[in-house]
Amino acid sequence: PSGTLGELLAWHAGRNPDGIALRDGERTLTLAELHALCGRLRARLAGCGLAAGDLIAVCALNGIEYAALFVAATSSGIGVVPLPPSAEAATLEAMLTDSRPSLLFVDRAGSHAAGPAWPSVALEDGAPGQPWSDWLAGPLGEPAAGHPDEARIFNVIYSSGTTGTPKGIVHTHAMRWRQISTAAQWTYRPGCVVLVSTPLYSNTTLVSFLPAVASGGTVILMKKFDTQGFLDLSERHRVTHAMLVPVQYRRLMAEPGFDARDLSSYVMKFCTSAPFAPALKAEVLRRWPGGLTEFYGMTEGGGSCVLRAHEHPDKLHTVGQPMPGHDIRVIDPQTGAELPAGEVGEIVGTSMTIMRGYLNSPEKTEAALWISPEGERFVRTGDAGRFDADGFLTLMDRFKDMIISGGFNIYPSDIEAVLATHPDVEECAVYGVPSDAWGESPAAVVVPRGGAAADPSTLLDWVNERVGKTQRLVALAALDSLPRNHLGKIDKRALRARHGTPA
Ligand code: ATP
Ligand code: MG
Repeated sequence: PSGTLGELLAWHAGRNPDGIALRDGERTLTLAELHALCGRLRARLAGCGLAAGDLIAVCALNGIEYAALFVAATSSGIGVVPLPPSAEAATLEAMLTDSRPSLLFVDRAGSHAAGPAWPSVALEDGAPGQPWSDWLAGPLGEPAAGHPDEARIFNVIYSSGTTGTPKGIVHTHAMRWRQISTAAQWTYRPGCVVLVSTPLYSNTTLVSFLPAVASGGTVILMKKFDTQGFLDLSERHRVTHAMLVPVQYRRLMAEPGFDARDLSSYVMKFCTSAPFAPALKAEVLRRWPGGLTEFYGMTEGGGSCVLRAHEHPDKLHTVGQPMPGHDIRVIDPQTGAELPAGEVGEIVGTSMTIMRGYLNSPEKTEAALWISPEGERFVRTGDAGRFDADGFLTLMDRFKDMIISGGFNIYPSDIEAVLATHPDVEECAVYGVPSDAWGESPAAVVVPRGGAAADPSTLLDWVNERVGKTQRLVALAALDSLPRNHLGKIDKRALRARHGTPA
């Protein structure tokens, strides 16, 4: 069996009842109030007939009730399916049909998830379903005593589902409990103040939110990120920790008043999800007090790498070293043979925090795994990378974004690195476009820096003088911004579609 967040919360509430546990706009809950609310929620879920092994779904922006549901449900062994309000109704319907939750909670942003097949509880006024306070006042039941079975579902997170039906990634109680148990290693502790500005339905957020709650800290929830709001909250509440994705760091660094802000309370900042440019890491280290820790990993789990950037200023071009207890290897993506250090191949990884599998999809789970010669399950990342002599991992690109031109493998990141050094380039992305002569050729889009009038054809010549012959760009266009998903990942399919390539 595994322990529960509810137990940890009870312990913290006993020691420091008036400590602020959750903050959402002007609303706050103390540790004692959150503990009481979770007790009520557990009894209410039992009153609705839910028991260990059942699931609830939430389709909402970040909020106190959402956070409390996570703690309460999982403490009763009930799994949570956090759904993205940004997804379309049909996608949400597919996720609900796949996971079949017993109850659905929605706010206004997630209201399109509700429907006749999925009656809901409304987390705020104007959302469909039974109002939260009415629901909370309903009949109570007796929540199961004892600890959840560690193999049960803690949460299901749907991957963005680039191919057909979305895949529900299952994390068990065992997996989350092991992750939570390493909270101190990432410097979370009682009294820490953690600013959450990414959505609770992503693993990126949960790997920060869950240890923060477990540590008895204060979690501040932002519904929507904006640079001013983030900096205001950081100053006002003396924030100590935040997990941000690279595009958020970029926007904060570009914020004119950034250096005048008092961010001296920061102990640690985290980053994961997408490529974090070395120059940007260096800038964050220079201008923002506290440490900077980058994680590389997947929602599927398996192996993760960690780079304590403040300790390794000479390794900012890497994503660091495998975390303790994580086995990460590089294989030939075609043959599955392991490759020696220094060679580029597909990254695979395993650890105690590997997913149980995709929900209801044994075939898809099997296809996502690589079995080591020792018979261990590794997750295939689809990412290309190589280890250096010191055991630090350099990430290239996703294999599906690699450009094959006249038989040569071209990594967009190599060309992006050159483009990024041009003073007029704020951001850039390189992707493959169809070519009659070569199969595919690289093209680029750039976002000019601070309104600089970068002339695309001059820039194209400038790059092509600096890259290898096969890497030369055939097209370059300037854009106001790059297409990105909710976690700030650049949507290269959308870029390819600009050239009429099927996505
Ligand atoms: P889907 O699997 O649905 O297509 P996804 O792969 O983007 O979506 P995640 O599991 O959230 O979903 O992301 C994992 C991927 O994110 C990794 O495979 C890698 O490509 C990228 N990634 C994660 N951390 C980093 C990092 N520190 N630097 C660069 N890229 C990263
Ligand atoms: Mg993935």
